[in-house]
Amino acid sequence: VSAEALTKDTIENIKKTDEKLNAWITVKDDAKPAENLDFEANKLAGIPIAIKDNIITNGIKTTAASHMLYNYMPMYDATVISKLKRAQATLVGKTNMDEFAMGSSTEHSYYGPTHNPWNLDKVPGGSSGGSAAAVASGQIVAALGSDTGGSIRQPAAFNGIFGIKPTYGRVSRWGLIAFGSSLDQIGVMSKRVKDSAEVLNVISGPDEHDSTVSEKEVPDFTSFIGQDIKGLRVAVPKEYMSDAVDEGVRQAVQDQIEVLKQAGAIINEVSLPHTKYVVPDYYIIASSEASSNLQRYDGIRYGYRAKDTKNLLDVYVKSRSEGFGEEVKRRIMLGSFALSAGAYDRFFRQAAKVRTLICDDFDKIFKDNDVIVGPTTTTPAFGIGEEISDPIKMYNNDILTISANLAGIPAASVPAGLVDGMPVGLQIMAKRFDEGSIFKTADFIERSN
Ligand code: GLN
Repeated sequence: VSAEALTKDTIENIKKTDEKLNAWITVKDDAKPAENLDFEANKLAGIPIAIKDNIITNGIKTTAASHMLYNYMPMYDATVISKLKRAQATLVGKTNMDEFAMGSSTEHSYYGPTHNPWNLDKVPGGSSGGSAAAVASGQIVAALGSDTGGSIRQPAAFNGIFGIKPTYGRVSRWGLIAFGSSLDQIGVMSKRVKDSAEVLNVISGPDEHDSTVSEKEVPDFTSFIGQDIKGLRVAVPKEYMSDAVDEGVRQAVQDQIEVLKQAGAIINEVSLPHTKYVVPDYYIIASSEASSNLQRYDGIRYGYRAKDTKNLLDVYVKSRSEGFGEEVKRRIMLGSFALSAGAYDRFFRQAAKVRTLICDDFDKIFKDNDVIVGPTTTTPAFGIGEEISDPIKMYNNDILTISANLAGIPAASVPAGLVDGMPVGLQIMAKRFDEGSIFKTADFIERSN
């Protein structure tokens, strides 16, 4: 098929299927492939790609699923978007998400929840739930997501697809709407592991607009596809296989570990002793950074402005009250408190210290191991409406994914079979800038299933 026909079919199919899923906020009806496609030089030439709606796209509305940005039309591209355009990929639209990427279910969206294509009564996970549902349902071959505490890996697991959060500093965050700046990272989701490797090849690497991106050379991630894993040292943290994880999920993960072992991997039981602190630690740090990052939405500079206001303070208060959803307000309050003079030492400073301990746990394990594996989530996808009224329960869902963000290490989720008819994921983590070992392991698992 021609790239034109592919683009047209893709958009028509999205329109036809998205009524049920609500995976998209904006579909670009007039999307066209780049001119003079060079299939030799560009693996992504003419390939339609979906973009999470917290990544800035020139001339395409970018809302972060917030009322606050319901009319925000950017005048520039995020670095990852410029890179995709240079690689001649076709952007066909923006996907649904939890507002400002705060959530684990895509229920916190101003545009309504996304449904899981495996079972429409279940959540697709979040916050990159739209990207995951779009890929899993076959609407699109690959999508960009963002991951601050699991937002790529958890929805990948819930939808039976692959998703990778690269090392902090591998991909530019310029043009990613900031949530927790020391944790945020853009990554890729696709059915096939190799497709994510192709996209990550394109979006990685230094950027003059983001000084936190490493100058390190970016390897060709597809070179890790198709390798054998004999001698691979695989650590399994005992905290990730405890009875806090559903029996079915544990069994599915154990089966995959067995597959690795049969192929000659060396399996080592290890411990991540600070796992019990990661949820409170993350929610203090992420919310503190969010409360600072979200100060810019004041009703003056961006997006939504309340009507019938009496004075400047009234503009701020009313615009923010009406523009932000419940969960975002909760995070701003939590973060402002943790950073306040009276609480800083007991909360933010303490959380920063605990973060160091969590990093140390990983460093120790990676001295003798190439990858860490375990479940991505404690359960398969839960029902829509089931956890939305219990934030603590929702936060606890993230216990297995947020450590990787706190430590800045790369981590991915690869399908590990079904539990009660719903997909679950095997999480694979590696040391900083060693996405290669993740691709190698994930591709092996994919080929074995
Ligand atoms: N679920 C986590 C949160 O609500 C992580 C979100 C994310 O990775 N963007 O903060």
